[in-house]
Amino acid sequence: MTDWNRVERLIGAGSLALLASKRVGVIGVGSGGGFVALTLAMSGVGQLVLVDDDTLEPTNLVRHVADARYLGKPKAEAVADLILQRNPAAQVETRIGRIEAHMDALDGLDLVVVGVDGENSKYRINEACLGRGLTAVYAGVYERGEGGDVTIIQPHDLTSPCYSCWAAVVRAGVAEADPQTDLDYGMIGENGTLEAEPGLWLHVVRVASVQADMALNELLRGTPIYRPHPGNTVILANSALEILTGQVTPPYSALWITVERDPDCMICGWRGRTHEEDDTVVSLDDLIEAGFAVDDEKQSEGSE
Ligand SMILES: [Zn+2]
Repeated sequence: MTDWNRVERLIGAGSLALLASKRVGVIGVGSGGGFVALTLAMSGVGQLVLVDDDTLEPTNLVRHVADARYLGKPKAEAVADLILQRNPAAQVETRIGRIEAHMDALDGLDLVVVGVDGENSKYRINEACLGRGLTAVYAGVYERGEGGDVTIIQPHDLTSPCYSCWAAVVRAGVAEADPQTDLDYGMIGENGTLEAEPGLWLHVVRVASVQADMALNELLRGTPIYRPHPGNTVILANSALEILTGQVTPPYSALWITVERDPDCMICGWRGRTHEEDDTVVSLDDLIEAGFAVDDEKQSEGSE
């Protein structure tokens, strides 16, 4: 029933077959991640693993790919059903729960798309991806949808920052959960959850479509249509944003930056060191103990 002719003409039969063989995890299928998962399937990705702990509420109907038919159902199952409407050949696995309870869902993936909105979940995913050598594409949408950013973290590349290195630069202040400075799918409050206005779906989707595109490009690495990017992070302005001090990025434009790896990062700083120094590996638990991160394990934190 699904006719891939036009996609095949665009990317080539070889690339389409390659995408069909790929297994991608989407962690958090809320307003952004749900769009990314559906888009990847509509672009030919053959296997998807969807992890989400939320159910679809009336408030989600104007901010999610799933409509009123799915009210009260887990978002992961709703998105899986929508995927099969578009790409019936896709294999979709759903996990209902927080990623912390489903870390094995990251096993055997070619790529992970991070759609969760909690910074501490992102740190957990970062650690798990480093251990697996798994490339991850993260996105964040700023308060009221004024803009957002997308970054690709590549553990196999020793020059790539990990998410912790990256966040220390781009999310300065998040580790302290300072409600005055945090921007990521809204403002992060004292307990690490989100409190501010999240923006219109179209503004979230603009960021999510770049996240999906970056994921597809990475999956097609080594093919003729893979294109290198001018940095590892793109910051998208929906409204005019002062991203770099004194420089206003106009609406609908973007700024590419390269965030460097911190050789002293407490999470990835061990990479490239000799085996004898392996005792320098630090886990998130160590960071929490040292006061560098907040333990939000017990908090409810969805993927809205
Ligand atoms: Zn790092």
